[in-house]
Amino acid sequence: MKRPKTAAERKERIAQILERLEAMYPDATCALLHHSPWELLVATILSAQCTDKRVNEVTPGLFAKYPTPTDFAAVSPEVLANDIRSTGFFNNKAKSIVGAARRVVGDFGGKVPRTMDEMLTIPGAARKTANVVLGTAYGIASGIVVDTHVQRISARLDLTKQIDPVKIESDLVKIIPQDRWIKFSHQIILHGRALCVARTPKCRECDLNSLCYAKDKTAIIP
Ligand code: SF4
Repeated sequence: MKRPKTAAERKERIAQILERLEAMYPDATCALLHHSPWELLVATILSAQCTDKRVNEVTPGLFAKYPTPTDFAAVSPEVLANDIRSTGFFNNKAKSIVGAARRVVGDFGGKVPRTMDEMLTIPGAARKTANVVLGTAYGIASGIVVDTHVQRISARLDLTKQIDPVKIESDLVKIIPQDRWIKFSHQIILHGRALCVARTPKCRECDLNSLCYAKDKTAIIP
């Protein structure tokens, strides 16, 4: 397709991308099982370098064993590491989770806080994790989750030229309306798993095709 030249054309293209994403993935939401903001925070920390499927296999037993942040705060990282071994990087994740639990219990009355600034004081919670928890658990659009799928697809769709996740998020929040920040991430993550995969994207099946001028497109559909 021709690249939009004017601000109005760029805005129209973004609107069309959002409309088509909504048609393709109307029910997109977070795939990590959870029953509370705290459980989502733990699941998100566990999901680093691990599939959501594997995390979802581990968390039901984990939350049965440690039902509250106070229970996690009382355990040693060494013991917790054994419980989460199958998610990989278990020593670091255990330290983060126990540190997060101690912060949540010690400074926030046992409740995961509701602001980005407070979230960023929690061990193991950088902007991505904070955006996941604030957006999905509380419905607070504090920013846009930038994971590996959002990173790759934002570049393919020419929504950013940055490679640093914080700078990508900064570009995205300028062009995506705030009421779409939460769902946009979920939809792009699903798109990254279903069609716009890292190697050999399935462009022939992609409804964004006519709006996409990625260099590595595998099919051009006008
Ligand atoms: S056309 Fe291909 S590269 Fe572009 S968004 Fe769709 S799957 Fe991804």
